[in-house]
Amino acid sequence: MPQAQSKSASRSARSERDEPDAMENGLSENLQKDLNDLFLMGLKDIYYAEKQILRALPKMVKAAKNEELREAFEAHREQTSGQIERLEQVFQIIGKRAQGEQCEAIQGIIEEGKEVMEEFKGREGLDVGLVSSGKAVEHYEIARYHSLKTLARRLSMPDAEELIQQNLKEEEEADRLLDQCGGTLMRQAA
Ligand code: FE
Ligand code: FE
Ligand code: FE
Ligand code: ZN
Repeated sequence: MPQAQSKSASRSARSERDEPDAMENGLSENLQKDLNDLFLMGLKDIYYAEKQILRALPKMVKAAKNEELREAFEAHREQTSGQIERLEQVFQIIGKRAQGEQCEAIQGIIEEGKEVMEEFKGREGLDVGLVSSGKAVEHYEIARYHSLKTLARRLSMPDAEELIQQNLKEEEEADRLLDQCGGTLMRQAA
């Protein structure tokens, strides 16, 4: 029977720090390997996603009627090129070739955006729909970058973590900017 754990110890009760083969960062070899694999998998996923987003944003720019929204999409398209370059630096840091892996999640989110563009073409609510589609993309990216940042930190890769943090910050700013645009658009509609 296991010994009773104090409350503070219970959080780390499942860590493997007492294993004979424990690494210096407190991760077992197996968990360290899995976290590295998850990091690479997530990196390939978001690299593919960013490239798809780079291709989708000009369509959003074209579709948007409101100038502020159009400029927001255009500015984010330029940011996205820089984000792709940062991801290439992260691949370099971990000594892997920059390579995307097909992500059906982002494909689906972008596909929904296209549906909104078709369904609301020529209608007054089009731009509000575009804001909503844009936010779905940003939130997917934010979720991915959060995980990658946490993994980079746990795996003691500060340079990779910093690059990921820069991308994450831009996505969060884009999300907020879309909220502002959406607010303006809905006040105009009132
Ligand atoms: Fe992005
Ligand atoms: Fe994905
Ligand atoms: Fe984004
Ligand atoms: Zn949000």
